[in-house]
Amino acid sequence: MQTILVTGGTGFIGSHTVLELVNSGFQVVVMDNLSNSKTASLLRVEELTGKKIPFHKVDLLDTQSLDKLFTDYDLDGVIHFAGLKAVGESVEKPLYYYKNNISGTVNLCEIMSKHGVKNIVFSSSATVYGDPEINPIPETAPVTAVNPYGRTKLTIEYILKELYESDHSWNVALLRYFNPVGAHESGLIGEDPTGTPNNLMPFVTQVAVGKLEKLRVFGSDYTTHDGTGVRDYIHVIDLAIGHIKALEKLNTNPGIVTYNLGTGKGSSVLDVITAFEKANDINIPYTIVDRRPGDAAVCYADPSKANKELNWAANRDLQTMCRDAWNWQTKNPKGYE
Ligand code: NAD
Ligand code: UDP
Repeated sequence: MQTILVTGGTGFIGSHTVLELVNSGFQVVVMDNLSNSKTASLLRVEELTGKKIPFHKVDLLDTQSLDKLFTDYDLDGVIHFAGLKAVGESVEKPLYYYKNNISGTVNLCEIMSKHGVKNIVFSSSATVYGDPEINPIPETAPVTAVNPYGRTKLTIEYILKELYESDHSWNVALLRYFNPVGAHESGLIGEDPTGTPNNLMPFVTQVAVGKLEKLRVFGSDYTTHDGTGVRDYIHVIDLAIGHIKALEKLNTNPGIVTYNLGTGKGSSVLDVITAFEKANDINIPYTIVDRRPGDAAVCYADPSKANKELNWAANRDLQTMCRDAWNWQTKNPKGYE
């Protein structure tokens, strides 16, 4: 049985992945500094799996505690979710982002190397494609950074590539996520953003629950089928399962591999509103406002490489994502509070 350290494992994607890991028979150790999550998510995962999951409140910048984790557990690999992810905040506080995300990852890799743990799955993002010229986007498309958050993702991708070039005993999976949404079907775990959500789906669910008055649709003059921005929304459970497949791939010693994790389908903001209304029989009041600066018009994945090489596909459709997001929101109107 393999033991996997999950950094950022109490967070949104982390908690769903821990659940899928445990259900797939992995031994899991979770570390997080709880800067953007609560241990309640892990207690819910324990409730769902009936298994105790060791948790350590550790910051990636605290190398001593990090080192101790690798001494205390016989680890086979790491899934590395821990990081800050708010684009706007990264523009205001770039150094904070560089230190937390980049220095944190360098610390992690140094300690992994010291302990001979050289299998890592990294949470990258479709943001590395910037405003893509071609859709669907293949992994070979040009990459760029359009804000400090994106630059941390791209820089970490380069660091991991160079690390592999220097030492071929590493196995690295760079997973470029498209837009993760939804929640586990139980409604016990889900996305619990701090403050007013920046992302579309949690904003929609908070409008639906009456916490926010109406959705602002950012721009209706894009060259898309209805003028609103198009994204590739992926159910967080499909995304979580992609990590299990990536771990299996690492067991074949592939070196460094990069995969898009998306559905391959583009949905506009209005498509999301319609799907949500239909799935949940709720009206979502909205108003059209100006474009949000920095937003791409269209961004959706070509997931065929992951489909073929990982034997993985995102199967849950947009209505299921909307249903599960709403189920989580109604059962937990205040998140994990
Ligand atoms: P999240 O904020 O819910 O989870 C990240 C976790 O990392 C949090 O629990 C936070 O407390 C922890 N963390 C942050 N800095 C840390 C540090 N220095 N030491 C220890 N723990 C630390 O976010 P998420 O949505 O679950 O995202 C997980 C990863 O996936 C992130 O790296 C994010 O950048 C990436 N990603 C997310 C999305 C998305 O839309 N949610 C899209 C693409 C990529
Ligand atoms: N969006 C919107 N209103 C909001 C939040 C987002 O219209 O309150 C749009 C945004 O312009 C983009 C899509 O929804 O076209 C997805 O945005 P999100 O922030 O969820 O993800 P992004 O792809 O920007 O990372």
